[in-house]
Amino acid sequence: MRGVEVIEQTAKSVLNAVRGMPFGWSINPYRGCYHQCRFCYARRTHTYLEADGSTQWGSRIYVKVNAAAVVRTEVAARSWKHEKVTIGTATDPYQPLEGRYRITRGILEALRDYPTPAGIITRSPLIVRDIDVLQSLARVAGVSVSVSIATLDETLARELEPTVAPPRQRLRAVRMLAEAGIDVSVALAPILPQINDSAESIEAVVRAARDAGARRVWHNTLNLHDVTRDEFFRYLRESHPAMLATYAQMYRGKYAPRAVSDAIDERVRAVRSSTHETHFPRIVTVQPLQLALALSS
Ligand code: SF4
Repeated sequence: MRGVEVIEQTAKSVLNAVRGMPFGWSINPYRGCYHQCRFCYARRTHTYLEADGSTQWGSRIYVKVNAAAVVRTEVAARSWKHEKVTIGTATDPYQPLEGRYRITRGILEALRDYPTPAGIITRSPLIVRDIDVLQSLARVAGVSVSVSIATLDETLARELEPTVAPPRQRLRAVRMLAEAGIDVSVALAPILPQINDSAESIEAVVRAARDAGARRVWHNTLNLHDVTRDEFFRYLRESHPAMLATYAQMYRGKYAPRAVSDAIDERVRAVRSSTHETHFPRIVTVQPLQLALALSS
């Protein structure tokens, strides 16, 4: 992690109330993310800290060093209602720094000790380190894990998610979690129009997820706003200059035109039907889910 500035911080509170989502609370143990995905919608959270969400998103990372202790105090409170908490809505809670700091692990232990159901969103196989805690949390309160895999094309994955483990390693993590009895899903996210939105690409991820033991696959379509837009267009200039005009036309605002996202949803539905009917004994549930920015404090 050469070239990464790590800024340790102490937080007064860590649980963030969330509205309009299927979970009541979110936790983000870090701000910024070493994975530096070119499409990352959370980049703008850096601007709240007067950091540059484009160039510094992966090179200046804020670590809430006392987050596990603070969460333990928050969930021990008599007023705590044990509503579902999702970890990793605006950063990857298993990015490489977690190997050293073990903050996410400490948070899971606190949620287990004061039984609180949890969801985790990650692109990192490091999560398998904590299978023991996940199993004990699953027993007392329930836990679900979502591993994000946008494509099985290793070259494209390296372009889009420069420091994330290759898709095959993430699928191995899905398999290990499933074999450990953890409720694990694959997030086919994001789907980028005309880049990874072909039926073949979608089907490859859905089949691989199913084969690895994922219980569900969900997807969303690329959103581009402020700093994410700047970063994504920089990526297109570097890697897909021929797509620049298409994306400028398609993304006049944050979202792809309705017709484009509807077509992607339909393609995913068709893949679901075909894979279910011809290949898999169990139903693959693929649902569009737009993760709103459930920002950390
Ligand atoms: S892993 Fe998640 S939080 Fe990290 S850069 Fe990628 S999309 Fe953003």
